[in-house]
Amino acid sequence: MNGPENMLPNETSNGLENAAEEGDGRSVVPGGSGARTVTAVRGRLVWFCDDPFLVGTGAAMRHEKDGLLICVDGRIAYSGPYQDGIGRVPEGVKVVDYRHCVITPGFVDSHVHYTQVGMVASYGEKLINWLDKFVYPEGMKYSDKKYAEEGAELFCKELLRNGTTTALVFTSTYPHSVDVLFDRAAKYGMRIAAGKVLMDRNAPEALLDRSVEEAMEQTRGLIDKWHNKAGTRNVYAVMPRFPLACTRDMLTEAGRLWEEYPSVLMHSHIAENADEVFEGRKLFPECRTYLDVLDDHGLLRAGTVLAHGVHLTLGELDTCHRTGAAIAHCPTSNLFLGSGLFRLRDATTPSRPVTVGLATDVGGGTSLSMLTTMNEAYKVGALDGNPIDAVRLFYLATLGSARAMRMDHQIGSLQRGHEADFVVLDPRATPLLEKRTRTGDGSIEDVLFALALLGDAEAVEATYVAGRRVHQRGRKEEKATWSDFPFAWSRYDWKSGSWIPDQVVATTRGWRLPAIDAFAGGLHCVYNDPTDLLHWTVFTKKDDRPGTWSKPESLGVRSHASVALAPYHDLLYCFYSRDGKICWKSRDDQMAKPWGPEREIPGLSSQQPPAVTAYNDDLHVLAVDGERRMHWNTYHSSTGAWSGWEPWKDGNGDIVKGGWPSIAAYAGRLYVVYSPGADADVRWTARDPGGEWWRHRDLEGTAGTGQPRIAHYNGLLYAIGSWWESGKYQETWWAQQGVDVPEWTTPRSITQIRTGSFSGNGLTAYHGQLYTAYFTG
Ligand SMILES: [Zn+2]
Repeated sequence: MNGPENMLPNETSNGLENAAEEGDGRSVVPGGSGARTVTAVRGRLVWFCDDPFLVGTGAAMRHEKDGLLICVDGRIAYSGPYQDGIGRVPEGVKVVDYRHCVITPGFVDSHVHYTQVGMVASYGEKLINWLDKFVYPEGMKYSDKKYAEEGAELFCKELLRNGTTTALVFTSTYPHSVDVLFDRAAKYGMRIAAGKVLMDRNAPEALLDRSVEEAMEQTRGLIDKWHNKAGTRNVYAVMPRFPLACTRDMLTEAGRLWEEYPSVLMHSHIAENADEVFEGRKLFPECRTYLDVLDDHGLLRAGTVLAHGVHLTLGELDTCHRTGAAIAHCPTSNLFLGSGLFRLRDATTPSRPVTVGLATDVGGGTSLSMLTTMNEAYKVGALDGNPIDAVRLFYLATLGSARAMRMDHQIGSLQRGHEADFVVLDPRATPLLEKRTRTGDGSIEDVLFALALLGDAEAVEATYVAGRRVHQRGRKEEKATWSDFPFAWSRYDWKSGSWIPDQVVATTRGWRLPAIDAFAGGLHCVYNDPTDLLHWTVFTKKDDRPGTWSKPESLGVRSHASVALAPYHDLLYCFYSRDGKICWKSRDDQMAKPWGPEREIPGLSSQQPPAVTAYNDDLHVLAVDGERRMHWNTYHSSTGAWSGWEPWKDGNGDIVKGGWPSIAAYAGRLYVVYSPGADADVRWTARDPGGEWWRHRDLEGTAGTGQPRIAHYNGLLYAIGSWWESGKYQETWWAQQGVDVPEWTTPRSITQIRTGSFSGNGLTAYHGQLYTAYFTG
């Protein structure tokens, strides 16, 4: 669909302008150690409480469409419906509004090499040659501590920019390469697992451990220094590179050391490449299988994370299941190095499931984005006849990886008590993503799939670590000010036959289509401010003097759609949808009096603004339900009663479907225009006084119009709208028709309006001229 009004219900993008101040975590209780840091964010929450490969997606996923997260001192204190939780937000804490975004647990990358950020995307080799030609030479540079520090800093920042809050990280054999990474992770407050690489053969001399004893001594020193130390979230992992690079002694001692420190992780590569497996079988002929090399040295149990596993046999997968060893699936790396296709279906089969996480494996992998990694995981699955759905992909990238790392009680979830690491994903991050998520069915499965397949770091609006925002997407982008535009108006001068250049009222700001109508000598306008609070302002013009707008005042209600106005029997009526209900207020012609109380038209749920006009002494309302079906209702002021909702049927007896209708009385008929769907022309019809509807026809040349409006002026009926293209409204068009020739003129651009209106144009006759009001894009 087109235009910002046509977004998913209840998804708005207000409140970003203050986000930097509000989202950084604020102490609400002054004073020393007793101070609590509280952060609250609102958005569409998704997380997992179980494994969808085992229990199905419905049972595994938690989804809160209008959700609230409250984080206290780095942990999640509340995650659930906004309405139920808002009362728990302490005074003084502002809720950061991400209602247009999806909030998931921070991504968990279960296998990545920070020492390879400098050689990622190096051309043309398979694993063994690639290690020799690119990885090891780059690795040697990390003997320089300063070089290592720069690499660690870049790596941590890039993880956060991509929404990754935890990673299991390969370093190099140099102990200081671990020091600098843990140091940077502590600086950002991230939960990072890493360890010194153990490697004593089949690599350049300068990279090898000089002895097994020294390697173990260094490892012990690092564990004592960093593992689970207060004030950090660092976790150590014992890291034999892979069987080909380790002697039996090294593997034996690594296994012993892990016995000594059972709370650390064990991380290695296995069965990535067919040549590797072949070489491994030759090097360890005494082992029954290649995986048994690790098992025989005490390196397989819960807490083991094995990167790749592409060429593991079914029997070896059985071993993983039996021992509790997990696999980190690295699809971009497996494709880039031509290693092969990991068989996720075999690994996750419910009869003997293996714990699987998702991983980038940069620099064998080609992106630090877990979204990009999901994209490639989908394709690897598709080649195996197993197209993985978005729910499972997001599971793998969050709770799945956390389980692989034995951290699922701490991270990978938005469940209360978990560490408050989360990522805010923007389904409107790019024009393509926006178009795609707007035209999709709006289900969470569809939005997640679009994000996975089309998203990357650009889709990451913000990243939070322990309740503190550590990354915010660049503000130069349009999205940051999506809801905040200056108000403008123009009018058509019948005598000169042209529109006056747009008049901007910069102090009045908002974004959705402003409704305008003439009433009691003034031009009334009701609009949504940047936070969707409804405001009204009145333009008054006398004689030939320039008119003035009154200071806007609040109606005291919020609506996540624009509104409709109509004068009827000495009152001005304002209709809007609020929380799915169709509501209205009215005011009389005494300017001093405010709007009356809110009333509801019961019986229909709608997230769109209804269309309204007075016709044949009744007030007619046309509204759109959740399935885009349209319904009529009429009201008579003498009885104060509604006739009840009637579905609007076309000539075939089918209920008319569409959105964003506008209705107007003209020449004794009731006219309707509406938007039938994305990229289709606006449709229109009219009802004769006898009650017969005309055939619905296209208003040709208006494809891409989100919200058309019609109004009667000076003997003709006018239509106005804006063409939506490339993620924004480009130009405003108008057309007209007369009584005798019920056909629209070809729509023409109003060139006097600079960029086209942002969300659509209000339209009405006032003071002998035709007025339009809009927010400038
Ligand atoms: Zn790797």
